[in-house]
Amino acid sequence: MRWLWRGGVLGLVLVLVMVAATVDGQTTALAGVIDFHVHSGPDSRPRSVSDLEIARIAKRAGMRGLVFKNHFTMTADRAWLAMQEVDGIEIFGGVALNHAVGGLNAEAVRQLVAFSGERGKVVWLPTFDAEFWMTRAGDPGEFVPVMRDGAPDPALGEIFDLIAEHDLVLAMGHSSPEEVLALIPEARRRGVEHILITHGLGQQPSRDQIAEMVRQGAVIELVWLAVHNGEFRLAEYTAAITEFGASHFLLSSDFGQENNPLHTDGLKAFIAGLSQEGISDADIDLMIRRNPARLLGLDP
Ligand SMILES: [Zn+2]
Repeated sequence: MRWLWRGGVLGLVLVLVMVAATVDGQTTALAGVIDFHVHSGPDSRPRSVSDLEIARIAKRAGMRGLVFKNHFTMTADRAWLAMQEVDGIEIFGGVALNHAVGGLNAEAVRQLVAFSGERGKVVWLPTFDAEFWMTRAGDPGEFVPVMRDGAPDPALGEIFDLIAEHDLVLAMGHSSPEEVLALIPEARRRGVEHILITHGLGQQPSRDQIAEMVRQGAVIELVWLAVHNGEFRLAEYTAAITEFGASHFLLSSDFGQENNPLHTDGLKAFIAGLSQEGISDADIDLMIRRNPARLLGLDP
């Protein structure tokens, strides 16, 4: 009887250990991962979680970092506040140069880097207010142009200088592939080192345009949101990664929309999906951990 009881206890302990290992196995899938494209509230669009909630969720999942992205307001301050509440995770913010911050307004970038906490790291060119984006959506409103008379808008000069001086990431927002290819040389000429093509396939660049972006050293962002909502098949991402090499890509969720799964669930699905498509663990590691770390100035 006593042996039976001991056997039962032993069995229970074994089961508990196995359950713990499984839970651990799930959480460690995201160990060290950085999500470069996190939408969270407060926002003027409905969001699934707040900054603090996603910071806690990401930390629990073992993630290394987050970049808060808001289309209308600066996020370096929110990033710092979230880091005060959630220990052991790197959170960065940035500013998207839409109408809400005055468009191509260098002062918005100056304040991004001047705010205490020093979490400002990314400058997105216009997103929802981009000419390409609004034109494609048939939106008749006033856009924020990045080109004037076929050349980079002169207001970008000071902005690119600030990005270079403070070693920020220049993210191309919703600019067209043609605009991106006209802007990269000007940004490089002014010393900008880190260039990210925001959801880089979403603006439907040609193969030659992708090749040129890669040749000019830009990193192309692939977002899980676009696979989740059916805009792209994962196989299209896989083909691009295979053709151009994982070193030129970065994976992020772009989640946070009210009715979508959590960012962490998106990233897990992204990793599992690419793995099933035959992308190696080393390449996934490069795109979801090391490349984002390098852009953010963290030890890759
Ligand atoms: Zn986004």
